[in-house]
Amino acid sequence: MFLIDTHIHLYLDDYHKDRDLLIKKAYKKNIKKFFLPNIDTETIDPLLELTNLYPKKCYPMIGLHPCSVDDNYIKKLKVLESKIEKHNFIAIGEIGIDLHWDKTFKEEQKKAFIIQIEWAVKYSLPIVIHSRNSFNEIYNILKNYTNLTGVFHCFGGGIDEAKKIIDLGFYLGIGGVLTFKNSDLNKVIQRISLNHLLIETDGPYLAPSPHRGRRNEPENLLIIAKKICEIKDISISKLTNKLYLNTNSLFCHEKP
Ligand SMILES: [Zn+2]
Repeated sequence: MFLIDTHIHLYLDDYHKDRDLLIKKAYKKNIKKFFLPNIDTETIDPLLELTNLYPKKCYPMIGLHPCSVDDNYIKKLKVLESKIEKHNFIAIGEIGIDLHWDKTFKEEQKKAFIIQIEWAVKYSLPIVIHSRNSFNEIYNILKNYTNLTGVFHCFGGGIDEAKKIIDLGFYLGIGGVLTFKNSDLNKVIQRISLNHLLIETDGPYLAPSPHRGRRNEPENLLIIAKKICEIKDISISKLTNKLYLNTNSLFCHEKP
C-alpha cells in the first residue's frame, strides 16, 4: 500500500522547475498519488495539463476557492461548471468560506459555496472544504444536506469542531499544522479514530516543521504521517493501509 496526498496544488508555478523530480522523490518515499484542488478559472488549464501528463498519479478536482470569490463569481462559476462533464473530476474543491483576511464578499462566498455544493449533489462527488474563521457559517450550510460528504481540508480546530464534522460524515484533512509547536491538533488526533482522517500537504503552502515558512514539497507528507503514527502509537504500514481505505471510500479516483 502507498500514501496519497489528498490536497496539493502541484500545478502551480512554484513547482515549475523541479516538479518531475519532486514527484519521483515522493514516489521513492511511497507517496504515489496526488489529488489536485482547483483555485480559480485560470488554474484549470495548468491543473488539467498536469493530470494529463501523469494520468495515474495526479487526479483533478474542480471548484472556486473562497478567496477567489469576487464581483465576478457568477461568471467564474459558469466557466467551471462547463468543465464538469468533460473531465473525470474526483471532487468539487476547494470550496468554502474564508473570513480571515477579507469579509467583503461574505454573502457571495456563501452563495458560491451553496452553488458548488449543488454540483456535488448533482454529480455525486465529494466536496473539499476550505474553512477559515468560518466554521459556524459552513456547518450551518452543511447540516441541511443528508446526501453530501467530503473533507475539511487543513483541519486546525478543536475537539468540538472535529466531533461535529465526524457527525456530518465528513473527514478531517490533516496537514502541516499538526507539526506546529503552537497547535493543539495532536490532542484532537489522540481522541478521534483513524477512521475519520485523511492526510495532505496543501503544498506549496503550510510546510510542516522543520520546513515551516519554506515551499512545501510532496515528500513532506511523510512527516505528517509519522507524526500521526507517533500520536497513535502505530506503525507506518498500519497507518498507510488505513488512510488508503479512507481515501478510497471518499474519492472514486480509479474511475475510468
Ligand atoms: Zn489548498
